[in-house]
Amino acid sequence: MAPVPRSENADMTSDVTDSLVRDEQIRIVYGQAWPAVAGGIAAAAIFAWIYSATAEQHTLALWFAAQLTVYIARGALSLAFRRRTEGSSAGSWALAHLVGILITASLWGAIWALFVDADAPLHMAVAMMWALGLGASAVGAYSVHLPSFVAFYVPVVLPAFIYLLTTESAINTGIGLGLVAHVFVLVGAITHINRSMIESIRLNFALASEIEERRSIERKLRELSQRDGLTGLANRRHFDETLELEWRRARRDENPVSLILIDIDNFKTFNDAYGHLAGDECLVRVSHALLGAIKRPGDIAARYGGEEFAIVLPNTEIDSACEFAESLRASIEAMAIPHRTNEAAHDVVTISAGVATITPQTSIPGEALIRYADEALYRAKSAGRNRVISDSHREERH
Ligand code: GH3
Ligand code: MG
Ligand code: MG
Repeated sequence: MAPVPRSENADMTSDVTDSLVRDEQIRIVYGQAWPAVAGGIAAAAIFAWIYSATAEQHTLALWFAAQLTVYIARGALSLAFRRRTEGSSAGSWALAHLVGILITASLWGAIWALFVDADAPLHMAVAMMWALGLGASAVGAYSVHLPSFVAFYVPVVLPAFIYLLTTESAINTGIGLGLVAHVFVLVGAITHINRSMIESIRLNFALASEIEERRSIERKLRELSQRDGLTGLANRRHFDETLELEWRRARRDENPVSLILIDIDNFKTFNDAYGHLAGDECLVRVSHALLGAIKRPGDIAARYGGEEFAIVLPNTEIDSACEFAESLRASIEAMAIPHRTNEAAHDVVTISAGVATITPQTSIPGEALIRYADEALYRAKSAGRNRVISDSHREERH
C-alpha cells in the first residue's frame, strides 16, 4: 500500500476527536496491565530475595507486602476496567490507573532510602539495574500514554539519581550523570514513539469511520439502483435479478415459484381524464397498497412497466398465489380511487392480474413464468378486466 501523503493524512485525522484518542490510549494502557503486574511482582520478589541478606528484615517484609498489595490491586483494577459499563468516564479510569502506577513506582523509588547502602557496591549495582530495567520497561508499557510513563519513570529513576549525587563519591556522581544522559535519550525516544502511536490511533479511527461512511453510501446507492423512482417499488432490473435468483433456488429445492402480473385497467383514459400528475399519484397509491400487502420477507413487488406491476412469490402454490392476487384486486377496488372512464367497474380504479406457478425444471426456461402470467393477464383483460386469472389452472376467479 502506498503511504498516505502527510497533508491528506492530517485532513483525514482532523475530524477524529481528542476524547476518542484518549479513550483508546487508556484502553491500550489497561490492556498492558497484566504483564506490568506480573513483571512487577517478579521484580519485587527477586529484589527482596537478593536484599534479604543485608536489609532490615522487618522493613523488607513490609515493603514487599505493600508492593504485592498494590500490584494485585492494579490487576483487579484492570479486570474491573474490562467489565466497565458503556459510557463510564475514561478520565476516572485514567486517574485510578495513574494512582496505581504512582504508588508502585514510589515504592520502587523508596528502595534507595530504605535498603541501598553505598558501602555495598554490589547491592547498589543491583538497585541500579532495577531502576534502569524498570525505567526501560516503562518505555514499552507506557509509550502510548505519556502521563503513565512520567508517573512511573520519575519516582523510579529520580531517587536513584539523587542518591548517587549525595554519596559524594566521584564514581557515583559519574554514574549519576550517565543516568541523566540515559534519561535524555529515553525521553527523546519515547516522545517520538508516543507521537507516532497517537497519530496511528487517529488514523485508525479516521479510516474506520471513512470505511463505514463508504459502506453506508454503497448501501444507499445499491438501494437506489434497485428502486423505481416514482413508486419506491423494486425496479425492473431488480425484478429480473430476483426472479432469476428465485428460479434457480426453486429448481434446486424443487419448490414452486409463483408470479402475479398486475395491470391497471383503462389507465390511459385515467390520464386523459385526470391528467398525468394525477396518474402518477394513482400509481403511487396502488404501489403502496401492493407493498403493504406483502408480508413474507422473500416476496417482492416490482414496477414491471408503466402501469404494470409484478409480484414474485417464492415457494408458493398456485391456489395461494391466486388468493393473494384476488385480495390485492379487492383491496385496490376498495380504495375507491375515482376513475370515471373505467368501464371495468363503477367509476373506480381497478386492476387485472394474471397468475402463473411453476416448479422449475432444467427443461423449462426462466422466462416461461413471465410468459404464462402475461398470457393469463391478457385473458383477464379480454374477459372484461378487474379480475384474476390463473394460468395453469385456467380458471376464472372473479
Ligand atoms: P388496459 O386496461 O388494457 O390496460 O388499458 P390501459 O389504458 O391501461 O392500457 P395501455 O397500455 O393502452 O395504457 C397504459 C397507459 O399507462 C399509457 C400511459 O399513458 C400510462 N402510463 C404508463 N406509465 C405511466 C406513468 O409513469 N405515469 C402516468 N401518469 N401514466 C403512465
Ligand atoms: Mg399496460
Ligand atoms: Mg392498463
